[in-house]
Amino acid sequence: MMNIHQLFQLQKLDTEIDEKKKRLGEVLKAQKEPESLLKKRQRAETAAAELQTWQTKHQDLTLEVGSVTTKAKNSENRLYSGKVTNPKELSDLQQEVESLGRRKALLEDEVLEALVMVEDAQAEKTAADDELETAVADWEKQSTHLKAEQNELALSLHKLMQSRKGKAAAVDAPALNEYEQLRKGRHGLAVAALRINVCQGCRTSVSANKVKEANEGRKVYCGGCGRLLAAM
Ligand SMILES: [Zn+2]
Repeated sequence: MMNIHQLFQLQKLDTEIDEKKKRLGEVLKAQKEPESLLKKRQRAETAAAELQTWQTKHQDLTLEVGSVTTKAKNSENRLYSGKVTNPKELSDLQQEVESLGRRKALLEDEVLEALVMVEDAQAEKTAADDELETAVADWEKQSTHLKAEQNELALSLHKLMQSRKGKAAAVDAPALNEYEQLRKGRHGLAVAALRINVCQGCRTSVSANKVKEANEGRKVYCGGCGRLLAAM
C-alpha cells in the first residue's frame, strides 16, 4: 500500500537536493577565472618567455665576442711574434686580425642591442607580473563568497542525501519505483501538493471526487500533469 505522505516527504527532500545541486553547478561555474584575468595571465607568460629569449641571445653574443677576442689576440700575437717571416703569411695574418676586429665591433653592437631588449623585456615582465598579481588578488577577494557557498552547499547536500537514503529505504519498492519513473518525465516532480482543489505541480483544478480520495490518503493522479497528488 502506497503511503502518499511518505512519498511527499521524499519529494520535498529530492526537490531540495535538486535545487542545491543546480546551485552548486552555478557556483562552480562562476568560480572559473574570467577572460580578463586569463588575458593578464597570458601577458605575463609571454613577457617571461620574451625575457628568457633575449637573455639567452645576450649570453650567446657575449660568449661569441669572447671567442672572437681570443682568436684575434692569438693571431695578433703570432703576427708580432717574430716567428713568422713569410710576407704572404704575414699579410694574411694582418688581414685576419683586421677582419676579426671588424667582426668583434659588429658583435659588440649586437650585444648592446640585446642588452636594451633584455631591459625592455624585464620592464614588461615586471609590469605584467604586477598587473596579474593585482588581478588575482581582486579575483580571489571576489570569489571568496563563492568558495564559502560551495562548501556550505557540499556540506548540506551531504546531509540531505544521508537523510534521503533513510527516507527512501522506508518506502516499499514498487512505490519507490513508480515515484522515480514519474520524477524522470516530470522535471523531477513526482508528487504535487494539492491545495484546496488545485494541483501545485501544474495549477490544474482537480475534481471534487479526486480531492475527496486524496484527502482519504488514496492514490490519485492529477489529470493535467499525471503527478501523484498529496492532500495538504
Ligand atoms: Zn498537475
